[in-house]
Amino acid sequence: MIKYITTLIIACTSVSGIAQINVKHIKKDISYLASDKLKGRGTSSAEEKIAATYIASSFKKSGLVPKGNDSYLYNFVFKKNSNPHDTSLVNIPERKGINVIGFLDNSAVNTIVIGAHYDHLGLGYDHNSLDANPEDKIHNGADDNASGTSGVLELAKYFSENNVKENYNFLFICFSGEELGLLGSKKWCDNPTIDLTKINYMINMDMIGRLNDSTKKLLIYGVGTSPTWVPLLEKTNTYFSIKMDSSGIGPSDQTSFYLKDIPVLHFFTGQHSDYHKPTDDVEKINLAGEKKVLEYIVDLINQTNSLPKLTFAKTASPVSTKSKYKVTLGVMPDYTFEGTGMRIDGVTDNKPAFKAGIKTGDIIIELGGQKINNVQDYMKALSGFNKGDKTIVGVKRGNENLSLALEF
Ligand SMILES: [Zn+2]
Repeated sequence: MIKYITTLIIACTSVSGIAQINVKHIKKDISYLASDKLKGRGTSSAEEKIAATYIASSFKKSGLVPKGNDSYLYNFVFKKNSNPHDTSLVNIPERKGINVIGFLDNSAVNTIVIGAHYDHLGLGYDHNSLDANPEDKIHNGADDNASGTSGVLELAKYFSENNVKENYNFLFICFSGEELGLLGSKKWCDNPTIDLTKINYMINMDMIGRLNDSTKKLLIYGVGTSPTWVPLLEKTNTYFSIKMDSSGIGPSDQTSFYLKDIPVLHFFTGQHSDYHKPTDDVEKINLAGEKKVLEYIVDLINQTNSLPKLTFAKTASPVSTKSKYKVTLGVMPDYTFEGTGMRIDGVTDNKPAFKAGIKTGDIIIELGGQKINNVQDYMKALSGFNKGDKTIVGVKRGNENLSLALEF
């Protein structure tokens, strides 16, 4: 999961059909993906390719049809600038990433997408580790997100092997570039290998390996993206203490699908002290807990089998959620911006940003002395202000850097 500041949850019941969710498979996949051999699966690394090959061979064993742009692999290129004072991307070298995609063809018109990112922080050089001295340390990312990746592999096996007549096809995607800003999911949604209008909904699993057996807390984001979700999630749950968040925009890949008007859900077993640190290891994974999460997702999907394609609903942006922020800037962030900073897609009249002279197209790179590398940094910075506070906002406009006086 990308760095962010919120919470979420899920549930479970019995599994029908012959196929079963198998803890041994989950353990094997997480142990391999989060082993030191894969050096933290950094995007563009040699080990990313090794992980992608492992995922592709699992898809092949499950009998999935390749749906990448190179068999199961979906190669993409991107530029990422880590210098906040240069947002031009002109002198930034191009990097490569690989999504892995397999299709279960049930001869249906519409398709359910099941996804998870498999990339993590590698050796800590991309400035998103929370370790004090991250560089050269292997960030194994067992929970984030070998857990979700193993979930995709296991659900691919499950739905390939069960004997139930499915009324939908399945597209299984393991994304890369998530930790650098949802890059892989964004690239695929902009250049998809199936028709986006034929997607029923998208299920994302990001960090599902740390279920707390006492609290049984499961967070579920995106429940407002279709009116079907809340009653269905509640009806299906017999095990978890579920915490729901309605927003389609969240800290993981479901955001890219939501922005294409597709209903989404993101399952998450909660934040922990090993998050984005080299200590996120396989020994700490609750395998039986992850099995329960996957069984809940299977039950949920089975219930939608007899329903028509879900209706999409837009949700309020978390940036404007009044409960978490005492102030508002009055801007619409560009969630698809790939450079450093937060690009402004729109400015609300007579709100603080408007009064400070911020314009559409400006890139916020600093707020109140805090560097803003992305939307998440901005939200974090914003949460520290009260009404009436005065501060300086650093903005990049074309080739100019401006410091504007701002009053909340
Ligand atoms: Zn992460």
